[in-house]
Parts: sequence; C-alpha cells; structure tokens
Amino acid sequence: MDILRGFKDILPQEIKRWQKLEETARETLKLFGYKEMRTPLLEKTSLFSRGVGEATDIVEKEMYTFLDKGGESVTLRPEGTAGVVRAYINNHLENSPFRKFYYIGPMFRYERPQKGRLRQFHQIGVEAFGIQDSALDAEIVYIDKIMLDKLGLTDLRIEINNIGCPDCRPKYLKSLKSYFEKYKEKLCDDCKKRLNRNPLRILDCKNKTCKSIASNAPKIHEFVCDGCKTHYEAVKKNLIKIGIKFEENPHLVRGLDYYTKFVFEIITDKLGAQGTVSAGGRYDNLVEQLGGKPTPGIGFASGCERLIELMNYNEEQDIDYYFACMEDYTTCLKLAKELTDKSNKSVYVEYESRSLKSMMKKANKMNANFAVIYGENERKNGIVIVKDMKKSTQEEIKIEKFLENEVKRWQ
Ligand code: ATP
Ligand code: MG
Repeated sequence: MDILRGFKDILPQEIKRWQKLEETARETLKLFGYKEMRTPLLEKTSLFSRGVGEATDIVEKEMYTFLDKGGESVTLRPEGTAGVVRAYINNHLENSPFRKFYYIGPMFRYERPQKGRLRQFHQIGVEAFGIQDSALDAEIVYIDKIMLDKLGLTDLRIEINNIGCPDCRPKYLKSLKSYFEKYKEKLCDDCKKRLNRNPLRILDCKNKTCKSIASNAPKIHEFVCDGCKTHYEAVKKNLIKIGIKFEENPHLVRGLDYYTKFVFEIITDKLGAQGTVSAGGRYDNLVEQLGGKPTPGIGFASGCERLIELMNYNEEQDIDYYFACMEDYTTCLKLAKELTDKSNKSVYVEYESRSLKSMMKKANKMNANFAVIYGENERKNGIVIVKDMKKSTQEEIKIEKFLENEVKRWQ
C-alpha cells in the first residue's frame, strides 16, 4: 500500500530534530508570554474562503474540501490563522489577560509535491491580538528570528514590505493591472488568470518571464495611504532599535488576502526555490471579517519541514542501558524498571533470545552506553554483567547490588 503523494512519515531517526524544534519553539514563545492553542484540523469551508480569500491560490486550488456525511462542506485546514481567529471570537478571548497565542501542527494543501513542498506539512505559528502599535510588529519579527537562531540556523535574511490596506490597495492593484496588461501575452497561464482576479500575486510568480516583467512593475510605496505609511515607517524604526537587520523588498507579497500594512519573510538561500522558512504580517481586518469585533492582529508561521532540513543536530545518546536477556525476561524487566525508577536512565529490554554476539551488535547500533548481560550462567550465579560499551570493559555485579551500583555511577 503506497502513502499518498505529498504525504510523509516522520520516522524515529529524524524525530529528535522534530522534538528539538518543538521544544525550542515552546521555550522561546513562553519567554514572551505566548500561550499554546490547539484548534481542530477540520473546519467549515467558509472559514477559509472568507478568511484566507476567494481569489487566493490556497482557496482556489489547494484546499482539501469535501462534504461530510451530513452534507456540510468541510476543509482540512490549509493554514492556522483563520482557525485561531475563529477560536478567539468564539471563546471571547478578548477578555483573557493573554492575547498572544501559538500553535504547532499539520496543515494540508493540495499542491504539486516537490522539494520543500508537501501536501501535509507542519507549521509553528504565532498570533497576537488587540494591539495596533508597531512595537508588536517588531516583537513578532524578533521572536521569529530568535527562535530560528536558537535552532542554530544561519545565513537568514529578513525581508519586509508594506502591503497597504483595503483603503489604499485597490489603487495599487489598478495600477499593477494596467502595467501587466501590456505584457499579457508573455505572462504564464496562471498569471493571465491572476491579472483579473489578483494581480498582486503576479509579483510572487516563480516563472522566469513573469519575474522579469514584474521587476519593473509599479511599487506599492507610491500608493499607500498615510496610516499604512506611518505604521510601516514606525515598524522599521522599532526593528532598528532592537537590532534586527532587514531588507526592504517592495515586491514582497503574501499568498493570503488578509494581510495589511506590514508583512515579512525570513528566507534562506540554502533551500533553493523554496527558501522562505517563515512568513507573516499584520491582519487588522480579519477578526471583524470573520464576525468578531474590530480587532487588529498580527502573526507569522514557520514551515517545520524546511526548518528541520536546515537544522544541524547532533544525534545524542540513544539509550543508556541495553538489557541483553537470554532467559528469565521477568528478572530483566524488574531490574530495568527499578533502574528507571531510581535513576531516570533509559533502558531497552530485549525480549527475544538471540546470540550474545548479535545482541552486542544491536547495543552498538542503538548507541547504548551500557549493556546488561543476563544469561544462564549469570542466573545460576546470581549476577549480571554490566558492559561499558564505550570503553569495552565489563564487570560482574551481584544481582542484589545492581541497582545501588548503577545509581551511584551517575551521581
Ligand atoms: P509559498 O510562496 O512558498 O507557497 P505561502 O505563501 O504559501 O508560501 P504561507 O502560507 O505563508 O506560505 O506559509 C508559511 C510557511 O509555511 C512557508 O514559508 C513555508 O515555510 C511553509 N509552507 C507553506 N506551504 C508549504 C508546503 N506545501 N510544504 C511545506 N511547507 C510549506
Ligand atoms: Mg503556497
């Protein structure tokens, strides 16, 4: 039976990196008072069509949408923000002292699978509500960057842009449209469609010809209203004040319609075309759009698979004690149980009779620190053999002294 295209098993050999990633994210976000939230994987389809936007790639062609048995249209979440906003509204979290949240979990998009692009992927995302001030924008970029630093990622670039708001963006879209109209025949098929539906997205097209046409397109800065301009300039000042380096990219746009004013991406050149590891920005109208009171919001999401690929993680010790039992598994289980109780050391008990040689091979493969050998002779003599796998030395220990001996070893 094959796994679905674009889906992936995360196997034990890479799980440590996942755990390290999640731990680092949790530690970092805790430092800044962000609280974890877990929203359902399945939501009403209208949440995303209204939240993310009808004319986005995500809603137009990337969603896993189906009718449930009651005939309701439901969708596997393609991103996390809409669900968090829904939960914020439904649960009246505007009354909570904490209005900064994070989530970690799978997202689903029916995209063409390729390197760095899966159909089920994972995101670590952050959302903060109720604050208009640009200092929060700087905090968001800062915690994203510091999280990546703590993961040991290097050579990252932060790009920022002003994306305007529903007041000023239409003017810009009009100007973009008339610019691209002139090159209509040369644009790729996707962009031909985008021209009418969402000309902003042409700026983000990966096609070479579209890219070169886009490079001379009008820039949003000439069109933004005073409010957007003031906010954006203030974010830049704040970023400089807290020592965050950034580059302005006037053509940076996001694939989701809800963004306003300030957007950013953190990019690496180490992953080729799929180099954006984190992306986010402000969404000051989204809460209201989804039925809540007017409430500003801002957040980001990092793609876990891309972070994992960049993480250089030293695989540590896998297991402390490998119990090489050749008989009387119950005695071994008892020793192992007592050892974990008293020392917190990890154990792997072998319940399958094999030759001593093959068990020692296995202990080595598991990168065990010690092997505890218990066979017929040991049972008869009331001892175990504790073998130091790193030094290749071994000692005989009376079975009733085993626990005391091993606990002492680690003190
Ligand atoms: P892109 O331009 O790469 O399609 P996007 O605009 O769709 O990105 P967001 O929805 O903002 O991206 O997602 C934030 C991050 O999640 C991305 O920067 C990326 O790291 C990750 N991501 C998005 N889609 C995928 C996917 N299909 N597979 C793996 N990671 C993904
Ligand atoms: Mg995308």
